[in-house]
Amino acid sequence: MKLPDIKILDEKNKLLHKKSSEITFPMDESEKKLLYDMLTYLEMSQIDEYTKKYNLRPGMGLAFVQVGVPKRAFVICSENDDKTFDKYIIINPQIVSMSEEMIYVGEGEGCLSVNREVDGIVPRHARITVNAFDENGKEFTIRVREDLAVAFQHEIDHLNGILFTDHIDPKCPFKDADKMREI
Ligand code: ZN
Repeated sequence: MKLPDIKILDEKNKLLHKKSSEITFPMDESEKKLLYDMLTYLEMSQIDEYTKKYNLRPGMGLAFVQVGVPKRAFVICSENDDKTFDKYIIINPQIVSMSEEMIYVGEGEGCLSVNREVDGIVPRHARITVNAFDENGKEFTIRVREDLAVAFQHEIDHLNGILFTDHIDPKCPFKDADKMREI
């Protein structure tokens, strides 16, 4: 595999704190290609051989805005137990329902735009249902749970200019842990 040439913005960049705009169809071919490149990048970042070779930080999600395109799209590449990957392209997402049950990632969330260790609890819904479009403008509904639900909510936050660090109170980073289930 060849590592796609993409530059990921750091949290200091103002773009990451702004709301992204809706995508109109048909999409530019160059923007579609960028989505595929982002997925390839994420897959390679989760394969030992490439993380060592290219010094990559593993990541399972990337929003368009993180590569400098402030439009409402993100990709997720999620590794299965059998080492295969599930890939998602999500455009103009709308959360249509969410569970009351809340969860958080015990080891903390990470972000390819946040190049520092940030401890603390980020409350997420355990299950969400999302309406979205694929890169060809076809509408679909997807229901996600557990770590995938966390990833979706993390990426949807990016489209609204929100980073996971914004959810953590630095004075009390582990508050309300007893009200949520750790995953
Ligand atoms: Zn992120």
